[in-house]
Amino acid sequence: MTLSVPRYLVPFHPKRIPHHFVDVLVIGGGIAGLRAAMEIDPRLALLVITKDTMEQSNSAYAQGGIAGVVDPEDRFEDHVTDTMVAGANLCDREVVEMVIREAPEHIRDLIAWGTHFDAEDGHLLLGREGGHSHRRIVHALGDATGHEVMRAMIQRAKSELGAQFWPRTFTIDLLTNDGVCCGALVWNPDHGKTFVWAKQTILCTGGAGQIYRESTNPSVATGDGHAIAYRAGAELRDMEFMQFHPTVLYIAGSSRSLITEAMRGEGARLVDSAGHRFMLEYDQRGELAPRDVVSQAIVAQMEKTRQPCVFLDLGHRDPEFVRKRFPSIAKTCAEFGIDVARDPIPVRPGAHYMIGGVTVDHEGRTTLDRLWAAGEVSSSGLHGANRLASNSLLEGLVYGAHAGRGASAAALEQRDSYEVIPLENPPVEPPTEPLDLDDIRNSLKSLMWRAAGVHRTGPQLTEANDTIHRWCRYVLARQFANPTGWELENMLTVAGLIVESALARTESRGVHLRSEFREADDAHWQRHLSVVRGG
Ligand SMILES: Cc1cc2nc3c(=O)[nH]c(=O)nc-3n(C[C@H](O)[C@H](O)[C@H](O)COP(=O)(O)OP(=O)(O)OC[C@H]3O[C@@H](n4cnc5c(N)ncnc54)[C@H](O)[C@@H]3O)c2cc1C
Repeated sequence: MTLSVPRYLVPFHPKRIPHHFVDVLVIGGGIAGLRAAMEIDPRLALLVITKDTMEQSNSAYAQGGIAGVVDPEDRFEDHVTDTMVAGANLCDREVVEMVIREAPEHIRDLIAWGTHFDAEDGHLLLGREGGHSHRRIVHALGDATGHEVMRAMIQRAKSELGAQFWPRTFTIDLLTNDGVCCGALVWNPDHGKTFVWAKQTILCTGGAGQIYRESTNPSVATGDGHAIAYRAGAELRDMEFMQFHPTVLYIAGSSRSLITEAMRGEGARLVDSAGHRFMLEYDQRGELAPRDVVSQAIVAQMEKTRQPCVFLDLGHRDPEFVRKRFPSIAKTCAEFGIDVARDPIPVRPGAHYMIGGVTVDHEGRTTLDRLWAAGEVSSSGLHGANRLASNSLLEGLVYGAHAGRGASAAALEQRDSYEVIPLENPPVEPPTEPLDLDDIRNSLKSLMWRAAGVHRTGPQLTEANDTIHRWCRYVLARQFANPTGWELENMLTVAGLIVESALARTESRGVHLRSEFREADDAHWQRHLSVVRGG
């Protein structure tokens, strides 16, 4: 890879900033981070850091639910097959089997910790989503699963773990010495830059949807962990695979709310502006085809009809059922004068889930010694080239638990040391010309949407690559003093890695659709594409 980034984003000197010592540092407090924290031995000093409040994460916004074989009529083999089929020949079968077999026990744990999944007469209600051959998605509060799961997890973490929590604390970089991770450099408005020295560090920073103009992700999802790990020398892979959610609410001025796949599971039809139901013309599974197929069909239909969106229609279902099953979406739409039970809902695809990430083994170990990763920031091999709906909260639970267990066991074997490694990064001369960071951020998001969106072409990717390299040359050469600058530097880095990887993969597979190479090329590309700084 040719993207050149500095090792550290900010200047520091060990004599001029505070030092904090812990046994285990967890960066991120979404489902993966908190699940990891729950596995840390209570004898160890544990610190959990979140960029915003703990309530702000992709996890909290999850709607559809968590996939798992809990119905006696369902079979592990079928969930495995569905995952492998969606993953377009790039899933790691061993990982898929491991995660899917562990799913029921994780769902049971969540219930034991106080999560109220939707149930009737003591039986869990199971939803069905695109690509699943069976009803196997546990959900809560209708379409607000993430909110309920995170409520219960945050409550348990705060009441039962003897951990320290540092909210509104930005992790700027991982600290490394001789290729070993030894904690992180963090910042918060109260104590400024701080060295957090940790025996073991677990990275759970979530996704990167904010790099795109259209995205379902909340503002915290700027790919920080991907960029941080890249700068520190960990291997990342599959960065070209950004999953687009097919149905994101498209109303001028509204937030880009996701319209859950479960709506199609309950029979919603996709129609174009003329009311024509088009999905069967693209795939025999119709509206329940996997996400990549539906996103690509919607974009093709938008181009064909020259319209900026298509519509989801539930007008044929019982209005009471629709409003009860999808209360949050009904409320959001009602604010814009749309009755979900009667009116077609305008939708189009948006960046949703970052499949690529920091390479981890079955235990959540990265290629950087003493660094672990779990959840959306990682690449475990579960999703292949396309994530099956509702498999990501599950991955966060399984790998969070594995990484937490591994880091805990490793930290218990290390002796205490309060010696500071004399790491230092000198300041650079500040340029005199001010930079309009918002302008670059917005331009980057538009560029990514145009050039590295649902359809990609070589010439557009090449142009985007040149532009990002040009921006990187003068933005990454500066040292900023606050999260706005650091986030932009991380977004540029991750965008650069996405575009370079998308350019390199000269085939179409899963969520990666190259217009001039429309078929999968198994002979050359049935493999992961890894990136390492300076590699
Ligand atoms: C709208 C929406 C709906 C979804 N629905 C589903 C669904 O139904 N089922 C499903 O399986 N998946 C769903 N997903 C995907 C799923 O929610 C995510 O993949 C998953 O929650 C990721 O969990 P995580 O713990 O890895 O990251 P997150 O939950 O995003 O947590 C990331 C954490 O890292 C912290 N962080 C980030 N950067 C920094 C930094 N620089 N310094 C310090 N802390 C930092 C954040 O503050 C946050 O605490 C959905 C996603 C969205 C956006």
